[in-house]
Amino acid sequence: MRFSEVIGHKHLKTDLIDMIDSGRVPHAQLFLGPPGCGKLALAIAFAQYLLCEGDKPAPDACGKCSACQKAQKYIHPDLHFSFPFVGAKLTSNNYLAEWRLALTENPYLSVNKWLQSIGAENKQGNINKDECQNIIRKLSLKAFESNVKILIMWLPEYLGKEGNRLLKLIEEPPENTFFILVAENQELILNTILSRCQIVKINQLNDINIVEGIMERESMSNEQAQSIAQLANGNFNEAIQLLDKKENNNSKLFLEWMRICYKGNGTEMVPWVEQFAAIGRENQKHFLNYALHFMREFMLLKMTGNQHLRLQEQERKTANNLTKVIDLDQIREITKLFDECYYYVERNANPKVLFLDTSIELNKILKTKSLATIKNN
Ligand SMILES: [Zn+2]
Repeated sequence: MRFSEVIGHKHLKTDLIDMIDSGRVPHAQLFLGPPGCGKLALAIAFAQYLLCEGDKPAPDACGKCSACQKAQKYIHPDLHFSFPFVGAKLTSNNYLAEWRLALTENPYLSVNKWLQSIGAENKQGNINKDECQNIIRKLSLKAFESNVKILIMWLPEYLGKEGNRLLKLIEEPPENTFFILVAENQELILNTILSRCQIVKINQLNDINIVEGIMERESMSNEQAQSIAQLANGNFNEAIQLLDKKENNNSKLFLEWMRICYKGNGTEMVPWVEQFAAIGRENQKHFLNYALHFMREFMLLKMTGNQHLRLQEQERKTANNLTKVIDLDQIREITKLFDECYYYVERNANPKVLFLDTSIELNKILKTKSLATIKNN
């Protein structure tokens, strides 16, 4: 992957390229940024630039030399990857084929999607003791083809206390060995590891970057791309998932659900839940993401009256109508309810039970006006 294939982050890319050109690459870096910002893609581009043996006039990796060609297929013998997976006594070596496929499809992938793709189901992924020993072994070998060795570790959060096994290696790595840890949540990483890394903060993408990224991948109108970018909220992985479901009718489905829950009539609610339970977990998560996005924008409208919302025309009209019947406390409770619901969907709760419970709870919230609203009306 070349820097030019990573969307956004113009200034950061220049800084990273300068870092390599001037020979000031730290032995251990931590690329830290929110989900879907492209931190893994940047780490891979950084590694390829470091490995590239061609002329680099762009400035970017040449994309043509033998090192680039191998790096692009994630098969360069001096570019190592480590990532969370499931199974004791296994290492990332056991999952390399799946990993290469996942990166080829989408280097913005989420950990959840990754773990699902290797059949983790409900099991928690981790980077285990055997994998740490595997890393130590791999990096103690001489470089095969290049004069550098690079290890990209995706999500060191999953190391837990096993991270202690890598401290010495990170602090005093063999010559010309570079660690790039790619993380989302600093708090879940051992301080002893953090203190040994130079942190590179990576920002969330903005809507313009996301629209550009979408339009490079697929032909669609600017308006359609905008609408996806608004929902994706700076997360390009989310945008890619939404692209796959261009025809999704989440906004219609959401309004219908709100209407049914407001009425609270079981003869309508139960069939809706049964149908909805059948659409599958990934679609349910997209739906809930949409619902949370709508509530965020709705809250903004309610609090400020600002009409510049990240909503399409029809959705904005609905939001305006709803301001008369839903108050701020209710918005907070509904948001909390959707958040919890999302949490349980991710953990494979029974969808019929979960969405029936959530619908009943939503009905209760919609029917309970706070005192302030009653007085104002
Ligand atoms: Zn090259």
